[in-house]
Amino acid sequence: MKKIILFTAFLVFYLSTEGQAQIENSIKDDYKTETDLRNWIKTKDFEALFDNNELLVNKIYLADKELELQYLPEQISAKRIKTAEKIIQLNHKLKKIYDVVPESRQLEVIFYESDYPATALGNQSLLLISSKSLELSDAEFFAALAHELGHLYFFEMMHCALEKKDFEQIRLIESSCDAVALVLLHKAGIDLTSLEKALIKINKLEGRNKNDKTADRYYDLDKRLDVLRGNQSVVENLIKAIR
Ligand SMILES: [Zn+2]
Repeated sequence: MKKIILFTAFLVFYLSTEGQAQIENSIKDDYKTETDLRNWIKTKDFEALFDNNELLVNKIYLADKELELQYLPEQISAKRIKTAEKIIQLNHKLKKIYDVVPESRQLEVIFYESDYPATALGNQSLLLISSKSLELSDAEFFAALAHELGHLYFFEMMHCALEKKDFEQIRLIESSCDAVALVLLHKAGIDLTSLEKALIKINKLEGRNKNDKTADRYYDLDKRLDVLRGNQSVVENLIKAIR
């Protein structure tokens, strides 16, 4: 069975394939609450993310880009941007993420026209970026993409949660991707608060256009920021400790 689910704004779409059922190595089945997330941040597995891009990027190499491209929704593929000026702007913004995670150049960038500030990981090989996202500052843009790379880490777990429509788990994974983004922000030498700034700005830019269909997938903004800020202080302590 093959199907595709597309979510706008700051997320992922999944082409479901057989055999992606195993849960991430380092995270157990009982990863269900914010406390579990907080505890995971204190493990060696999380700490390893500071040294090792492999944990994120190995899944890019397993992906079938051609197949995944075939499932790109028409409403996005029809709006791909070809204007040189905009592409130059985009490439300028992408430079930092490519510096920090060079392997992310393997992702096929799908840059498309939209009034929504959306970034999304397309399965494991596509990186969808809407034109409106260019309104984010360089640091905020980096933070948004760092969150998307976090989805590579949680790919199988998210896949299972989506299949089961386990929204509690889905919301926790979204916040877990925020935690991974903090690691990449640190590696880039960018202020960790850039992620919360990005979330706030995206929320504002979405305005009345906000797609309610995706609402179940996230904590509301206040709650998400709350979880993020709590985790941020744990990550900051970790950074001090490993320096
Ligand atoms: Zn996400």
